[in-house]
Amino acid sequence: MNVKPKKYLGQHFLNDKNIAQKIADALSLKGYKTALEIGPGMGVLTQFLLQKKIETFVIEIDSESVDYLKAHFLKLSQNIIEADFLKFDLSVFFKQQQVAIIGNFPYNISSQIVFKALEYRHYIPEFCGMFQKEVALRIAQKEGSKVYGILSVLTQAFYEVSYLFSVPPTVFNPPPKVDSGVLIMKRKENFVLQIDESLFFKVVKMGFNQRRKTLRNSLKSLNLSENLRAYPLFDKRPEQLSVAQFIELTGKIQQDLA
Ligand code: SAH
Repeated sequence: MNVKPKKYLGQHFLNDKNIAQKIADALSLKGYKTALEIGPGMGVLTQFLLQKKIETFVIEIDSESVDYLKAHFLKLSQNIIEADFLKFDLSVFFKQQQVAIIGNFPYNISSQIVFKALEYRHYIPEFCGMFQKEVALRIAQKEGSKVYGILSVLTQAFYEVSYLFSVPPTVFNPPPKVDSGVLIMKRKENFVLQIDESLFFKVVKMGFNQRRKTLRNSLKSLNLSENLRAYPLFDKRPEQLSVAQFIELTGKIQQDLA
């Protein structure tokens, strides 16, 4: 018996094994021995992960899917975590080991999954998977684009992002209303920024929360000195700043607040 797709869990099961294999093959398998698949559903992607020379764990919130996986993947049964990824403490469970994250993600919470992965970036060397295309593009875009935003800057500060390929709705059951896109994010060698990282998150969020304003305006409440506020980057709107410029600006703000 197949799992009955549940809308509230964002369940769109992938029917195309070639695509599942391509997603699994995107992992480099370098720098980690373990992978965690988010939302395995009936295991279309899991079957290919199990063929690789890494240990695969899966985290699934839906008990019907968990029962299905236990019945169909005997090899996996010890490695099934029945839980909500958004409430899961990856560093405790994996004892601070490096773990690659992969999945055909539930689209209703895809941005939250990315934010959560960024929180655990010290433990996640690679992050690969399928998103709704619009979210995938947003994560991968560079400055100047209309969809460049918080997700793009924060992800690209720590990861090299590559957009791999698009996937049409027809290969899912039930088909989603939107196209999908597959991304791979590889953590940068120097992913620890030489600035206050929580201030960086704050500056990026404050900037994009008022997208049309100059940074001088949207960062007003930080009470920066006149001197710093004369700095040219403050004349710009957030989508005009590269990731490196956001980091540079945060460094200046940090000095100013010190
Ligand atoms: N990977 C499967 C299923 C994709 S649908 C396939 O490609 O066919 C998304 C999956 O994520 C579903 O199985 C859903 O139950 C699961 N899911 C939804 N929210 C979740 C959460 N918060 N934590 C873990 N899994 C979740």
